[in-house]
Amino acid sequence: MSQLFAKKVAAITGAGSGIGRALAIGLAQEGATVHIADRNAEGLAETAELIGAGDARAFMTELDVSSEIQVGSWIEQIGSTSGRLDAAFNNAGITGPALPIENYPLEDFQRVIAVNLQSVFLGMKYQIPLIKRSGGGAIVNTASVAALTGPGGMSAYAASKHGVHGLTRVAAMENAVHGIRVNAIAPGWTETPMVVANSQQNPGFAALARNAIPAKRGGRPEEIAAAAIWLASNAASYVTGHMLTVDGGMTIGGFEL
Ligand code: NAP
Repeated sequence: MSQLFAKKVAAITGAGSGIGRALAIGLAQEGATVHIADRNAEGLAETAELIGAGDARAFMTELDVSSEIQVGSWIEQIGSTSGRLDAAFNNAGITGPALPIENYPLEDFQRVIAVNLQSVFLGMKYQIPLIKRSGGGAIVNTASVAALTGPGGMSAYAASKHGVHGLTRVAAMENAVHGIRVNAIAPGWTETPMVVANSQQNPGFAALARNAIPAKRGGRPEEIAAAAIWLASNAASYVTGHMLTVDGGMTIGGFEL
């Protein structure tokens, strides 16, 4: 069976849960050696276990994606352990509180920007030189449908994800000549553990939200990961600077018949 990432090395943040976990498992199934990072050590260990206990192709690092020292040393470690980097997925993120702007605490705003946006800047800052030394590759950043819309109460989140879109385009512009493609995915409502738990607490709201999606259901983490893995693969060799929505039609706009 041909594998899209045979002999390739991939780095994934937020791999202890949800979309990042699905990315790590999907990439490993496609033959990649995976370097998985998260602040949640337990989640990371579970992901490594799901990839395959004792598999020498999964390396875990506990880190905070908003820390330059920690992200820099993680990428340096990937260089010394695996000698190369072919694909990077800057995926870790948080939602922050849901509050109108006039009540939104600055501290929360800054934290969401640091975890969702500064992290993508730092990831790419250190990944790009290693990918260049490896002869080229691809980066996929996780944005959100909130990179295209203005969900009330989510100022920091939407600003951070619009920022991820912008950073993705700049990085694509700067690195096309170096054989590095940089794209983003914009997931819609995705049934990750956090969303599933919120839905159980507030089933009425969850039913309304799902009904507003043309597909009438949330996405599975594997469905989001599949799009990101495609973007990072050679099958997307002429795609760069693009943000791919994977949202069951949530952002089509207009009205149903
Ligand atoms: P998730 O299940 O909560 O997974 C995110 C992982 O990132 C968690 O393990 C989390 O650890 C970790 N993390 C959070 N802050 C971190 C930090 N500072 N440093 C390192 N790791 C950190 O979330 P998800 O739904 O898979 O989300 C993944 C990405 O998709 C995020 O960027 C999110 O904004 C985006 N997204 C999700 C949806 C959705 O509906 N689920 C929709 C659009 C976009 P903890 O468990 O300790 O928090």
